[in-house]
Amino acid sequence: MRWTQFFIPTIKETPLGTEAISHKLLLRAGLVQMLTSGVYSYLPLGLRALRKVEKIINEEMNAIGARELFLTCLQPMDLWKKTGRDETLKDVMIRFEDKKGRQMCLGPTHEEAITDLVKNHIQSYKQLPLVLYQIQTKFRDEMRPRFGIVRACEFIMKDAYSFDRDKEGLEKNYQLMYSAYQKIFARCGLDVVIVGADSGAMGGDISHEYMVPAEIGEDEVLVCPACGHALGISEAKEGQACPKCKKEKLKKKPAIEIGHIFQLGTKYSKALDVSFLDEKGKKQIVIMGCYGIGVSRLLATIIEKNNDEGGIIWPKEITPFDAEILPLQVSDKDILQLAYDYEKELSQSGIDVLTDDREESPGKKFNDADLIGIPYRIMIGKRMFAEGKVEIKDRRTGEVIVVAKEDAVKKMKEILK
Ligand SMILES: [Zn+2]
Repeated sequence: MRWTQFFIPTIKETPLGTEAISHKLLLRAGLVQMLTSGVYSYLPLGLRALRKVEKIINEEMNAIGARELFLTCLQPMDLWKKTGRDETLKDVMIRFEDKKGRQMCLGPTHEEAITDLVKNHIQSYKQLPLVLYQIQTKFRDEMRPRFGIVRACEFIMKDAYSFDRDKEGLEKNYQLMYSAYQKIFARCGLDVVIVGADSGAMGGDISHEYMVPAEIGEDEVLVCPACGHALGISEAKEGQACPKCKKEKLKKKPAIEIGHIFQLGTKYSKALDVSFLDEKGKKQIVIMGCYGIGVSRLLATIIEKNNDEGGIIWPKEITPFDAEILPLQVSDKDILQLAYDYEKELSQSGIDVLTDDREESPGKKFNDADLIGIPYRIMIGKRMFAEGKVEIKDRRTGEVIVVAKEDAVKKMKEILK
């Protein structure tokens, strides 16, 4: 991919009204753009990173037997009245009346819609268990949207739902999700703490939250400074001795919630009458679980935890490109040609490459390369080129190695292996 054919509107100055590092960098690196407060568009580079996050989620969901579908944003209020959440979620719902006079909303979540969807298709115990998920846009009428895509009015979520015949089935699916979430966040390069949580408006018994300690976090966790053991604020008190190592007292730390899993039980299936016949022909209520990941928030959290003063430093599995090629003097035909040759060879080996073919100063190219944070770059500069050499730089460590220009592709392949 060539920079001049892509669309990466980088910004040098820090945009006004941004508090979070991730918010600043998302805007400055040309990943997202704000349309109005709490509402963001994804630009090509941001979308590539977002798709990488979604790919990891898809792979881990498919691996545990969850099937992807795609529900609607538009939902009739009649459905929400059946569970009483037209009232409990009143403050955050974006509601309106359509031309036919129907009361509608833009879905803030999808428990009602999915329960209604499976209702007519589950008759027998033989059809269970069933696990479905989607990656969808959700809407919340946030009074105070904050930190860019961390708390927005329109955002992307992965939500999964399990349907089981009994509690044992639910526990099995819950455990599978619990582990899949650990894998997803590890692949995103994040250290998460998992805490037992108050399930609040969702209802149900057991739930767990996946938290990433971060300054801008609007939730809190209790962390032991000695061993790192973490607990939810509903599980212990600040100042209490760490239950694991007993060496230090637990301290409160802000954290971002990126995932939440719930054992719902029969709250929604009962309200919407989703039942099946067991072996004896007896009617039973389906038992549900629901499992969410804030996908857009996850992308922001990854940036919040992976940056330096120069910009973003993408983790391997999330980066929008694997490598960047910087011909520093594009007016020099030989330098530009070498960049194109590298681009072709690397692309043919399945490596995603971005070539900065702009007629900009080397300084501007270096700054933008740091800002957009591609993990490795090949720099082709006049002086080195004359000696038959190029440089490869590691964005995270800052380490630069000099290689013969014939060896650059081979070396890059080794690094990325
Ligand atoms: Zn401890």
